[in-house]
Amino acid sequence: MSDLFSHGEAGLEKGAVALQRYGHSLMGTFGVPMRMLTRGEGSYVWDADGNRYLDLLGGIAVNALGHGHPAWVEAIAHQAATLSHTSNFFATEPQIALAERLLDLAHAPSGSRVFFANSGTEANEAAIKMARKTGKGTIIALEGGFHGRSTGALALTHKEAYRAPFAPLIGDVVFVPPNDEQALAEAVSAAAGDLSAIVLEPIQGEAGVIPLSHAYLALARALTRRHEALLILDEVQTGVARTGAWFAHQLHGIQPDVMTLAKGLGGGFPVGAVIAFGEGPGSMLGKGEHGTTFGGNPLAAAAALATLRVIEDEDLIANVKTVGAHLRERLEAMDGVVEVRGEGLLLGIGLAAPQSAEIAQAAVASGFIVNPPSLDTLRLVPALTLTKAEADTFLTWLEGYLAAHPLTPDLEKGGES
Ligand SMILES: *Cc1c(COP(=O)(O)O)cnc(C)c1O
Repeated sequence: MSDLFSHGEAGLEKGAVALQRYGHSLMGTFGVPMRMLTRGEGSYVWDADGNRYLDLLGGIAVNALGHGHPAWVEAIAHQAATLSHTSNFFATEPQIALAERLLDLAHAPSGSRVFFANSGTEANEAAIKMARKTGKGTIIALEGGFHGRSTGALALTHKEAYRAPFAPLIGDVVFVPPNDEQALAEAVSAAAGDLSAIVLEPIQGEAGVIPLSHAYLALARALTRRHEALLILDEVQTGVARTGAWFAHQLHGIQPDVMTLAKGLGGGFPVGAVIAFGEGPGSMLGKGEHGTTFGGNPLAAAAALATLRVIEDEDLIANVKTVGAHLRERLEAMDGVVEVRGEGLLLGIGLAAPQSAEIAQAAVASGFIVNPPSLDTLRLVPALTLTKAEADTFLTWLEGYLAAHPLTPDLEKGGES
């Protein structure tokens, strides 16, 4: 290992010079990138200086098959050479096959329909337009919820720092705390007859992996039914086998009216989708009422079809369950870890102290990419192909790190023990 991490002077310069060029040519929206990466294979990536990392972030839950899966590469190359883009004045086989496959995996009833977009944000924009199309106003969304950064999706995104500079956003959005059944019921009552939709992530990803309870999701389903409003599930992060089911809502035995997908769907190729369940939602957006140039192009559809095919052929749902359970078991036994949240390979490691950023930094310096979505949470959203042995290398590193740097609980919050 040691030679992998001994940077030569010239090597160090390569990454550093690239990041300088980055700083002079790209907008500062993402801050300073951690490294410049040059290549990936399976669950590993390499930086410009030749260092290898175990990628437990997977491009933020995107690289479902890891990096460079041969079947995915072949499908994209083949489709690129055959027909890559046509505009939506024309139909293509990959687009139709992908829509059929998604409806099938989602157990969508007859009348259900799919709209393809290029990202999670865009999928959510389409869902917002469906909410508007009900003719009613109020949308209920959750504190901590994340749905994207366009002005529409941002209106449903809770974080004040993301919203404030761009106010006013579309109104009529009411935020309630997650998992508070009474607050949800009260917000629905307060909306009176004007509730158009409740928008939820089954597990809040960006908030730090906060799962919604079975009872809460069931209540959201019952209330939207009763008030003839849409239950819109944002499964952009939780969807496509990430949680050990094709879609997270399937773990709860409910069916939404609308589900949005993106991230893992293309396995690293940008593609988003909106699934509208049943006749009503399926026919809500008619001719001319929504559109996109790129959405559903055959290249993106072929990438998504290949991703879904490999997940099935390699039984990755079983792998997600096995490796996810293994990670959870070992993490829960570690000093400094107070809880492990999430499902499958969408895991939040709750730390005893708000030191996620420094641990993530130490991890990358040691060859592990993890992400700190909140001060006291590390998030793991690796490739669905991650092996137990790969997971173990990280677990052993983290165990060693936490033993050498014991976490001391935040004194300001403490006092109750
Ligand atoms: C990432 C994410 C989005 C935004 O998706 P983009 O592809 O970045 O536009 C929306 N909702 C959820 C739950 C997400 O995790």
